[in-house]
Amino acid sequence: MQIRQLFDHASSSYTYLIWDESTREGAIIDSVTEQVERDQKLIAELELDLKYALETHIHADHVTGSGALRERLGCRIGIHANAGNACADLQLVDKDRVYLGSQHLEVIYTPGHTNTDISYKTADSLFTGDILLVRGSGRTDFQDGDAGLSYDSITGKIFTLPGETVIYPAHDYNGFCCSTVAEERRFNPRLGSGKTRDEYIQIMESMKLDRPSQMDTAVPANLTCGL
Ligand code: FE
Repeated sequence: MQIRQLFDHASSSYTYLIWDESTREGAIIDSVTEQVERDQKLIAELELDLKYALETHIHADHVTGSGALRERLGCRIGIHANAGNACADLQLVDKDRVYLGSQHLEVIYTPGHTNTDISYKTADSLFTGDILLVRGSGRTDFQDGDAGLSYDSITGKIFTLPGETVIYPAHDYNGFCCSTVAEERRFNPRLGSGKTRDEYIQIMESMKLDRPSQMDTAVPANLTCGL
C-alpha cells in the first residue's frame, strides 16, 4: 500500500491518501474542505481511482472535504456508525474491512477522544485519528470523550500491535509526521512506560484547554459530510 501524507496548516491536520499499487484504487482519510482542490489534483496526477473518503471521527476543528470529493469523484464516504451520519455511505464498525484492490484497511474501534473514533490498519501501519498522537493523545473533554476509554483503546488495542507498526496521526503541533508503536509505548509522556490508567485520567482531566474555535460550525457541518 502506498501512503502520501498531506498537511493543512490552518488546522494542523494530516490527510492521508493511500492506494493499492496494482489496481490504483485509493482512499483518502480525514480530508479537509479547504484542500479539496489540492487533493483532487494529486489524485488525478497519480492516476488513482478514489474509492473511499474515510473519517477517523467527527472532527471539531475543521470541516471535512468528503462530501465535495464524493460529488467530484464518486467515492463512498465511511465513518463509524456511532456518528449517526446519514450522509455517509458506509456505517463502519469494529473489524470491518475496506478493500482497495486485493489489499484492505481493517477498522479498529478506538473510542475515547470521541465516541466515533476508529483507527484504520494496514499490514504495517495504523492511522490513529486523534486517539493517539505523536508523544500525545487527543483531548477527552467533549464529544463523549472519556479518558479511561482513551487509555483502554491505546494500551489495549494500539500498544498491543507489533512495535514496528507505523503510527500516522490526524494532527501534529510539534513538527512530527509519524511514529511507531514501540516508540509511543516507551516515550509517550501521558501513557508510555507503564503509566497507570488512573495516572492517565488525572493527566487528561487536569488539562485546561480552550474550545476549538471552529467547533460550533465544524461539528454540524461534518454531520452533513461538509456540504
Ligand atoms: Fe478530533
